Amino acid sequence: MNWTEFIVGRARKWIIKQLTLGEFDSHLHVWRKAVVMACKIAVLAYCINLGAHWVMYQFDLLPYTLKAGLIAATVLTPTIAFTVALAVYVVLGFAIYDLSVSRAELEHLSRTDVLSGLANRRAFLEQFDDCTGEKSLMVIDIDRFKVVNDRYGHAVGDEVIVNVADMLSTVFAGRGICARIGGEEFAVFSAELSFAEFAALAEIARTRIAGMLTRVEGGPVSVTISAGITRALPRQKFRETFSRADKALYDAKAGGRNRIVLSYETAPPEAAAFTPEPAARISGD
Ligand code: GH3
Ligand code: MG
Ligand code: MG
Repeated sequence: MNWTEFIVGRARKWIIKQLTLGEFDSHLHVWRKAVVMACKIAVLAYCINLGAHWVMYQFDLLPYTLKAGLIAATVLTPTIAFTVALAVYVVLGFAIYDLSVSRAELEHLSRTDVLSGLANRRAFLEQFDDCTGEKSLMVIDIDRFKVVNDRYGHAVGDEVIVNVADMLSTVFAGRGICARIGGEEFAVFSAELSFAEFAALAEIARTRIAGMLTRVEGGPVSVTISAGITRALPRQKFRETFSRADKALYDAKAGGRNRIVLSYETAPPEAAAFTPEPAARISGD
C-alpha cells in the first residue's frame, strides 16, 4: 500500500465515522450532534477553500485578487457549509430518531400482551432462556374460567384476566417476571428468590387472588387460581422446565383447584422442609 492509498483510506474512514448517524436518545441529542458535525464540516470546507485559493494563486488562476477571495471564503464558506450541514444532519437525524422510536414501540408491542400489559409468551420464553442461572417457575391457570365467561360474558372475563395479571405483578414486583402465556394462563419466573421464597410469594398471590372481587353488573365476581411450581436447574430451558410445572399444575387441578403444587423433582433438598400453607401439595417425589 502506498502513501496516497493510506492517506485516502484513513480520510475515508474518518469521514464515514464522522457522518455515521448512529442512535439518538432525543431530539436534543440530534441537535447537539448536528451542531458539532456542522462545525467540523464548516472548518473542513474552509480549509479546503483556503487550499484551493492557495493552489489557484500559485498558478495565477485567480479571477480576482487573493485578498478579495480570502475575504469571501472566510465570510461565506463556513456560514454556508455550517447551515447546509446542520440542515441535512438535523433532517436525517430526526428521521432516524423517529424510526428508532417506532422500532422500539413495535418491539415493545411484539413482546407485550395487549390485554394484561404483562410480557407475552414469546418475551417470557426469551427472558427465561436467556437467564442461565437457577430459577423457579410457576405456571398458573384460572379455575373454571369458562363459567365466568358463560355467566357474565367475555368482557367481564377479560376484566378478571386483567385483575389477576395486576395482582401477580403487584405481588412479584421487582422479584419475578410475570407473563400471560395463554388465554387465562400465566407464568412467573424468578432467579432472585430461593425456591421456598418463591413458593411463599406464590401462595400469597394465590390467596390474594382468591380474595379479590371484580365488581361488575350482576354482582362481584371472584375467581381462584391453580398453579404448579418447579425449579429450573442452571441452563435448563423453558420447554423442559415448563413440562414439570405443567404436570404440577395438572395435579393442582386434579387435587381440587385453588391450590399450588410444588414439583420437588429438581428442588433443593432444603425445600423439602418448606410446607406452603394452606393448599400446596407435593408432586414428583
Ligand atoms: P379449569 O379449572 O379446568 O382450568 O377450567 P376452565 O373453565 O378454566 O377451563 P379452560 O382452562 O380449558 O378454559 C379456558 C377458557 O378461557 C376458555 C376460553 O373461552 C377462555 N378464554 C381464553 N382466552 C380468553 C380471553 O382472552 N378472554 C376471555 N374472556 N376468556 C378467554
Ligand atoms: Mg386454561
Ligand atoms: Mg382454566
